[in-house]
Amino acid sequence: MPAPLVGIAKLAQTAPKLAEKRTVEYRQLASYKLLTRCDSKDMPFEWTLNPYRGCEIGCKYCYARYTHEFMELRGPDDFEQIVFAKQWNRADFLRDLRSVPSGERIAIGTATDPYQPAERRFGITRAVLESIATQRGHRIGLTTKSDLVTRDIGLFREIGKGNRVSVHLTITTVDAGLARKLEPRAARPDLRLDAVRKLADAGIEVGVFACPLLPLITDRDEQLEALGAAVRDAGARFLAANPVFLTASALRVFLPFLETEFPHLTRRYQEHFGRDAFLRGDYPERLRARMAAIREKYGLDNEPVTRAMKAWPENPQLSLFPETVEHPRTGERLPAVAAVDVARDVARRVRA
Ligand code: SF4
Repeated sequence: MPAPLVGIAKLAQTAPKLAEKRTVEYRQLASYKLLTRCDSKDMPFEWTLNPYRGCEIGCKYCYARYTHEFMELRGPDDFEQIVFAKQWNRADFLRDLRSVPSGERIAIGTATDPYQPAERRFGITRAVLESIATQRGHRIGLTTKSDLVTRDIGLFREIGKGNRVSVHLTITTVDAGLARKLEPRAARPDLRLDAVRKLADAGIEVGVFACPLLPLITDRDEQLEALGAAVRDAGARFLAANPVFLTASALRVFLPFLETEFPHLTRRYQEHFGRDAFLRGDYPERLRARMAAIREKYGLDNEPVTRAMKAWPENPQLSLFPETVEHPRTGERLPAVAAVDVARDVARRVRA
């Protein structure tokens, strides 16, 4: 007889169904905490916040598929076909948020996309951002592949009045056909670039994560060049990139995908990632150097300021600055916290 389920697996098993589509079932997951402490020294943040569990976007390389295994959902497609909307309590969340020490970074969307299709139905990401907007002194970074993020531009500006916030669009290729294969239900790359442009024009710190880059699929020089130019043209501040890593649960989806779309690569990927989830040594070093050259060429930073800055001041003296500044290109009034970003944006466009 199988052992009785406990913890998150038991919660998942008893989670009530909220809605159903042809390929996705939405369930409600009782979740007593939205903010989760991340103690890994390898991560550039101290806290994670994922409004959903599972992700309908269904990227073939998605590393986060293992998170469904904690719920004893082990089918290769369960991660994208059973999506949990987290039940949360605003008062509890605000209490937890206030206890985050000044200067520690909160990453939204580390194991699931906060603007995946479920967000249109359940609006949890928006509700959480509305709560964050009532607070001051936090460092927030949000990552997505969806242009739905532009719906909340006003909210990011509101958050930016008292916090440091940056938004990151993940774009691994500007080739729409290739992106469709790799990231089947993500917004097209041009729509993601449009989102970058709108966020940048609104004075919000925005950058692009080219994560992951896939050897022999998305890492050719001309592909990286095209990406760098497009990211610069969209007004992003930074472009960061990492090579792919593929754990066993990711490989279960990725290898059959390769077999269909890139059969000549299956053996090479299988041989390497069957031994080691990470690429080590020469390849990541060379990729780092190539990306550094592209950033240099297009005047892009390599990470958001929210990550690089030492700490938010203990008592932010925002009253020392004017409430708003005028955007030199559009003439629009922007939150004062965006002033530095605007200046850099203009400098970059002039340089380009
Ligand atoms: S958008 Fe992110 S979390 Fe969602 S499937 Fe793709 S890689 Fe995974």
